[in-house]
Amino acid sequence: MTRTDDGNEEEQMGKIERTETEWRELLSPEQYSVLREAATERPWAGQYVDAHDDGTYTCAGCGAELFDSNTKFESGSGWPSFSEAKVADVVELVVDRSHGMIRTEARCQRCGSHLGHVFDDGPTSTGQRFCMNSVALGFVPVVLGWR
Ligand code: FE
Repeated sequence: MTRTDDGNEEEQMGKIERTETEWRELLSPEQYSVLREAATERPWAGQYVDAHDDGTYTCAGCGAELFDSNTKFESGSGWPSFSEAKVADVVELVVDRSHGMIRTEARCQRCGSHLGHVFDDGPTSTGQRFCMNSVALGFVPVVLGWR
């Protein structure tokens, strides 16, 4: 891992930096294309679209805790959807002008990986719909009695 003079500051913010070689070793090809190249998985294909277990969804790139299962809702979009991030600022929002659209891209604040997009048509009080790729997520189920 390379470290610049700004390394200490980055470290304090909990940022994770990896080289492209390290990312390719860490991730599956499908994960790499989504997390590092901002691809989108096919709708209804991801393993978490219809998941209902209690737990925490994490970043597949670094393990950061991103979403609580109790904010997951049925969006009908074919991608796992959440009304809000688990902790403020853990998901970074970036303007995305690719594919002839202006969208809001969601990235992991800690490792910079692409997660999906955020839309302002959510059905809950937050008004937000975090439309995520399953391959960008991990899941840590609640252990009974630990919540
Ligand atoms: Fe991450």
